[in-house]
This record gives sequence, C-alpha cells and structure tokens, in this order.
Amino acid sequence: MTNWDRRTKAVHAGTRRSQYGEVSEAIFLTQGFVYDTAEAAEQRFTKAGDDEFIYARYGNPTVRMFEERMAALEGAEDAFATASGMAAVNGALMAMLKAGDHVVSSRALFGSCLYILEDVLRRFGVEITFVDGTEIAQWMAAIRPETKAVFFESVSNPTLEVIDIRAVSDLAHEVGATVIVDNVFATPSYSRAISQGADVVIYSATKHIDGQGRVLGGVILGTREFIRKTVEPYLKHTGGALSPMSAWLLLKGLETMDLRVRAQASAAQRLAERLTGHDKLRSVIYPGLSSHRQHALAMEQTGSGGTVLSFDVGSKEAAFRVLNALQIIVISNNLGDAKSIATHPATTTHQRLSEEQRAKLGIGPGLIRLSVGLESPADLEADILQALEQA
Ligand SMILES: *Cc1c(COP(=O)(O)O)cnc(C)c1O
Repeated sequence: MTNWDRRTKAVHAGTRRSQYGEVSEAIFLTQGFVYDTAEAAEQRFTKAGDDEFIYARYGNPTVRMFEERMAALEGAEDAFATASGMAAVNGALMAMLKAGDHVVSSRALFGSCLYILEDVLRRFGVEITFVDGTEIAQWMAAIRPETKAVFFESVSNPTLEVIDIRAVSDLAHEVGATVIVDNVFATPSYSRAISQGADVVIYSATKHIDGQGRVLGGVILGTREFIRKTVEPYLKHTGGALSPMSAWLLLKGLETMDLRVRAQASAAQRLAERLTGHDKLRSVIYPGLSSHRQHALAMEQTGSGGTVLSFDVGSKEAAFRVLNALQIIVISNNLGDAKSIATHPATTTHQRLSEEQRAKLGIGPGLIRLSVGLESPADLEADILQALEQA
C-alpha cells in the first residue's frame, strides 16, 4: 500500500471489512463493545489489540478507518480523529504542553487558533511568542533552547501567506521543538508537510475532506509515539471524539477529495488570473499568481495555489454591496466546499480581533475571501464580474 498513489489510498486505505464483506465502509454506530468474558474485558483494558475497541470516545472501527486512511494519505505513522478541526488543534497543543513551556507561533492565524494560543494556553502558564511567519529571521530570533513547540498555518487564513515548512522545521529541530502545522489550506491532496519537516499535521476535516458542507471533523497526524503516548491519553479522556457517522461521511468525502480539490484549485487559479488588474479591485491575493509574495515557495511546497483566493474592494460598504449582489456564490464562512462561498473576514471570522490586530494581519475592511467550489468556472467568473459592478 505504501507505494500506492494518493488517489488510490484515498479510496482504499484503512478499509476494514466485517464478516459480510461489504464494499462500502460500514458505519458502526455503537458507543460500546461487548466482551465475551470478564477476563476478556480486563484483558482489553490492559492492552487492546488492533481490532479491539473499548468505547467510542477511545476509538471506533469506522473512526479508525478514517484515521488510517488519513495517515496513509499524509505519510504519517498514525492519526487521531477529533470532533472538529479546533478539537484537533486544542488536543495536539494541550496534550503536549505544560505550564512554563514556550511556544512560537505565526501571528496570521484563524481566529479560534489565536484564541487557544493567546487566551487558553497563556491562562495555563504557557509562554507564547508571536512572529510574522513569513520572516525566517523572526522565527530564528524567537526560537529558544526551551521552546517546546512551533505552530503555524502553512497557508494562512484569510491573507494566504505561505510559511516555509522546511526552513521553520530546521530551526525548530535544532532545539528539539515539535513542529505543529495547521495544514487546512494546503489540503491533503497537495500536502508534503511531513517530508518537509513537520512533526504533527492537523486538518479540519470540515473543509476539503468532507467538502460538501455536511459535518465537522478534525484529525491529528504524527508519529505513532506522539499519537498513542501523548495525544490519545489526553483526547480519550477529555471527550473530543469524532462521531462514527461523521467519520463515515468523511471516508466518503475522501474518495472524491482529490478530484474535487484539483478542479477547485484550477478554477481558483483561473479566477485569480481573470480578476488581476480589475479596476474595482485594490489587490488579488492567490499563491498561484506570480504576483504573490511567496509564489515560488508555494509552488515548491505544494505545487498549487489552492482553492481559496482573497481580493480587496477597498471598503466595507463596497464589500457588502459585492457580497449582496452575488447570485451563485453564497455568503457563509466554511471553505473547501462544493459550493463557492464568499466571506467578509473583518466582520465575521476575524471580528473578534481589534481593528489594529486586523490591520497588522492585512485583513482590511474591503477584503473578501472566496472559497472556490465545483460550479462551472465560467459561471463563477460571470457571477463575480457582475457583482463587482456594484463595488
Ligand atoms: C476551519 C479551520 C479550523 C477549524 O476547523 P473546525 O472544523 O471548524 O473546528 C482550523 N484551522 C483552519 C486554518 C481552518 O480553516
């Protein structure tokens, strides 16, 4: 299986068939498992084998299929699935950190990730240093011998800055720090994060993995040692478990993920090129454009600009007029969905930040984030162009 292509792994890896030999993965909607004898129960709590489950908060056959498929796709030794992307981010960090530890993180983060680092971890005595993740010199200055972990979004939300996984990992590994990458925007289709040096890779499966706007989910990928000895004990006792029903939907999502993500990225590239230089736009941000500050790095790191682009129409009023004029693209805040989704980060996903913090991150009042879906690229282009007339 290790020499299978990603597309083959996305369809077959991790499949566990019951005695019925079903083709499609079975949904084990059960929270518990029956032991033949009291001795068997004792034995299982002492050391559970590969096909032995105890309680769905600890693990479940359908969830395990999703974990194994994700680990195979990412080239990780093991994986732990969670109820949402944020349960994965929180789980990975809380499982490994303690009071007095030091963490270096890029500043350009999804609002909820920022909350965990700035509010939660600091409350428990973890020291956090924020850096501009695109400046290697800042990482170099911030990482110290006592740094336990570095954290960043490999492509940041919503300003699409690309962080150099290899360069940051090399610096972190010099002091023995664990490199934790929130890799949502890169997607499992384009990621090579582990071979580039990441120790732990996190996905919100809510995004491209489901890709059809149905369920929340998340996954933490890493070494067997990290997943089983550090992550599992924390998560199985604190309750961030993925539902078997959601795991099944995510398994079905993985079967088509590669086709979807490639079509969406190709449409995003086309739209970004078409919008470049439009007279109603101050800027178009997309890592696939040669005008992007880290275009070369993006191409080397993932080989794609991804499925999301951002553009600035100048003011909140203009942004709202454009959003309200869209006819196909919906106003919402998910991404990676089959439906194209437009978001106004300043008033929604990043509303919690002060105007000053937003300015520092480049989230202006006119910025619109567009997650490109599976509609006809020509229809999407026409929809945006007619809406931009309202700007
Ligand atoms: C959406 C998102 C998350 C959170 O995922 P949920 O599944 O919504 O909890 C974390 N990081 C990034 C970069 C995201 O886009």
